[in-house]
Amino acid sequence: MIKLKNNAQLATMQESCKLTVYALYEGASLIAPGVTLGEIDLRIRQTIEKHGGKPSFLGYAGFPKSSCISVNDVVIHGIPEQQVLREGDIVSIDVGAYYKGFHGDCARTFPCGVISPEAERLIRVTEASFFQGLSKAVPQNRVGDISAAVQMTAESQGFSVVREYIGHGVGENLHEAPDVPNFGVAGRGPRLYAGMTLAIEPMINAGTHETRQLSDGWTVVTLDGALSAHYENTVAITSDGPKILTEL
Ligand code: MG
Repeated sequence: MIKLKNNAQLATMQESCKLTVYALYEGASLIAPGVTLGEIDLRIRQTIEKHGGKPSFLGYAGFPKSSCISVNDVVIHGIPEQQVLREGDIVSIDVGAYYKGFHGDCARTFPCGVISPEAERLIRVTEASFFQGLSKAVPQNRVGDISAAVQMTAESQGFSVVREYIGHGVGENLHEAPDVPNFGVAGRGPRLYAGMTLAIEPMINAGTHETRQLSDGWTVVTLDGALSAHYENTVAITSDGPKILTEL
């Protein structure tokens, strides 16, 4: 069932989303060669808890940390522990925070120092694919309109779209209906209505779209070892158009 939120609920959810993205940027401010992923995760956890929220990911299906931090060929669900960042890495940080009854969910990919032109282009196109999808997130469109716009943007630039992991509804639960794939056919899928809140989250690979999961049961990497980037916002569908809730 797709849950619609009224304006009061959306206003509250905006607060949880602001805390989420604030915590993400607090963590990202530490990115530098020599820093461990665990240090970044700790800053994110402390920021969320200091403001009275709870990290959504901590303990979710047994996940041991407060954020997912995915470096270079790691697509998503990287566990932030002892890994040390190096100059030239690309660092995807995915954060969820639960506050006042709602979850926010967002992700960004950052450079660590100077990165290759190809890595820069991957980050830029991943972000652009989100915004192309976002432009279709209006009442009476369908989920497939978002999906197709994301896919077309990424593939037209020679990149590929991850299939096994997708966006989702978000609200009182971290993952709600509907599914929001980053690939698909315009005009297909559930219809969009004002009051829906979606996590739109392109995961874009520089090489093959195929992925595999490491033996830790979480970390997902590209099958060919090529770079992967992630860009996600929690978005509300409104009669005035799409509204990004995870924005400072
Ligand atoms: Mg998500």
